[in-house]
Amino acid sequence: MIQIDLTGHVAVVTGGSSGIGFATARLFLQAGASVAICGRDAERLEAAEAALKKQFPDAQLLAARCDVLDADQVTRFAARVTARFGRVDMLVNNAGQGRVSTFADTTDDAWRDELELKYFSIIRPTRAFLPMLKEAPSPAIVCVNSLLALQPEPHMVATSSARAGVLSLVKSLATELAPPRIRVNSILIGIVESGQWKRRYQNYLNELATDSPEPRQSWEQWTAELARKKNIPLGRFGVPEEAAQALFYLATPLSSYTTGSHIDVSGGFARHV
Ligand code: NDP
Repeated sequence: MIQIDLTGHVAVVTGGSSGIGFATARLFLQAGASVAICGRDAERLEAAEAALKKQFPDAQLLAARCDVLDADQVTRFAARVTARFGRVDMLVNNAGQGRVSTFADTTDDAWRDELELKYFSIIRPTRAFLPMLKEAPSPAIVCVNSLLALQPEPHMVATSSARAGVLSLVKSLATELAPPRIRVNSILIGIVESGQWKRRYQNYLNELATDSPEPRQSWEQWTAELARKKNIPLGRFGVPEEAAQALFYLATPLSSYTTGSHIDVSGGFARHV
């Protein structure tokens, strides 16, 4: 296994209190980096911080409440990271969630919310951390994007459309930020087990009437059936660690000659060549 020592380097992971972001923070800590995570929900953030500190008692870890859609909060978060660590080498723009809706049931406000989330969850942290990234010896930005960017789904029309735009944004950022040597890449995820899928499973359980003749599926059965229905070639959902490994690769000098690119983490779900 390739080992990389990130001692003295600083990674920022937005939405690091759950799922893919949490798994990514763990990988950075494992490699010796100092890590800052953020999220909106205080309890989730505290639980994540406690779990990371338990696994890495000597961790240099900052867990801060911050909504990436709030410009002032992002500015304050960046100031706290700078004050605590004095540098930023890697920014992982991960915070967010998908929106399930067809064209028929997506209102103007829902469109605006979704476009705002997908764009500004990248724009704001990137802008706030750019001055620090410019000072770093091998800086990188990695964005969590979805396979929906290339393979839209009608039941996620706004998310798919926004995701396609984000692919373009990442490419433009990579070109504009190449002179200061900041690499910018993304990963395209299919379906990864995480907080949002656990919430959808909970909805399935809630909607299943107690007297329903349909047997109640376990999490494993429910995800396996979905993977089968969706024809995912590897036959299962991904796990957060699998997305995190691709993010880690793109954020570190392991991918020093890669920018403006993306890695597919979809279990073969992509239909295009
Ligand atoms: P989780 O729900 O497990 O994690 C999402 C994280 O983002 C949480 O820490 C959440 O914390 C945080 N977050 C959400 N909105 C904001 C916000 N406005 N400001 C700050 N933090 C925020 O889901 P995933 O790990 O799956 O999601 C990670 C990323 O991957 C998301 O961008 C998602 O859209 C994307 N993705 C995931 C897929 C999947 O199948 N899992 C598929 C395609 C893309 P809190 O709610 O407390 O703020």
